[in-house]
Amino acid sequence: MYYDLHTHTVCSDGQLTPEALVGTAAAAGVRVLAVTDHDTIEGVVAARAAAAVYDVTLVTGIEISASWEGHAVHVVGLDLRIDDDGLMGGLCRLRAIRRARGVAIADRLAALGVTGAHDLLGRHAAIGRGHFAQWLVQGGHARSPGQAFRLFLQRGRPAYVGVEWPMLSEVVTWLREAGGCAVLAHPTRYTLSGGRLRQLVRAFVAAGGDALEVVSAGLDVGEMGRLARLAGQFGLRASVGSDFHDMLPWRKTPGGLADLPAGCMPVWRDRPTMQWTEKA
Ligand code: AMP
Ligand code: MN
Ligand code: MN
Ligand code: MN
Repeated sequence: MYYDLHTHTVCSDGQLTPEALVGTAAAAGVRVLAVTDHDTIEGVVAARAAAAVYDVTLVTGIEISASWEGHAVHVVGLDLRIDDDGLMGGLCRLRAIRRARGVAIADRLAALGVTGAHDLLGRHAAIGRGHFAQWLVQGGHARSPGQAFRLFLQRGRPAYVGVEWPMLSEVVTWLREAGGCAVLAHPTRYTLSGGRLRQLVRAFVAAGGDALEVVSAGLDVGEMGRLARLAGQFGLRASVGSDFHDMLPWRKTPGGLADLPAGCMPVWRDRPTMQWTEKA
C-alpha cells in the first residue's frame, strides 16, 4: 500500500521534521503522504519542497480533536484548502484550548514537585500531552512516554486535565467547508463498546463525515474487516494511516500498511490531488 494518510511531525507531537518525515516515508515506499499534525498545518507547508524532491504526492492534512458525548475523538481532515477562514479560525481555537490546558498540566506537575514544565508552552504552538511525556522522560521522571502517560497524564492520573474540545459536528463542518474529506481516525481506540461505536459513526455520518480509518498500524485482519463492514453499512469511504509519530522500536515506520479490505471505497477515489502517477 503506497498510501499513508495519517502522520505527525515535530510541528505537533511527532519526532521527525517534516522534511525527514517525507524522506523516511519515501524510503518506506510511500507515494501519497498526508501530514496530519494535531491542530496545526505548519508541517504540511514545511513538507512541500521535500515532497517534490522525493516525488511524493503530499496531501494537505490535519488531525483535529473533537468532543462527542463526553469522549475525545479525532477527526483527520484530508485534501483541504488551508486558506479557509472557518477552518483556520477553528484551529486557532483548538490551539488556545491546548495552551490553557498546557498551563493547567504544568501547574499540576509543579504541585507534584515536578517543576519547569511551563517552559514547554513557549516551545510548542500546538502543545499536547506528548510534549509533556517526552519532557518527563528527559527529566528522569518516567522511563518512556507510555509510562509518563500511565503515571501522570492519562485520565485518572494526577496531571490529567480534562478539556471540552469543539463538537464533532462543528469540526466535520469546518473540514467539509474547506473542501476536505473528514475521516474518523483510529475508531478502535476510543474504548467504546460495539454499540457505542455505531452511535459515534452514526453521529459522524449525520455531521457530514466522509470516511473511516479502516487500515491503521497495529490492527489485525479481523479488526480491519470489521471496520470495513462498518464503513460499508454507513456508506462511508475508507482511509489508511499509520499514525506515525516516532522511530521508537515498538512503533511502526510510516507506510508499510496493509491494503484496504475488498469492497472498500478508498477515500482518494475521484480526488485527483490524492493520486500519484509515475513520471514518464
Ligand atoms: P493530546 O491530544 O494532547 O491530549 O494528546 C494525545 C496524544 O498523546 C495522542 O495523539 C498520542 O500521540 C499520545 N498518547 C496518548 N496516549 C498515549 C499513551 N498511553 N502512550 C503514548 N502516547 C500516548
Ligand atoms: Mn499524537
Ligand atoms: Mn489520534
Ligand atoms: Mn494521530
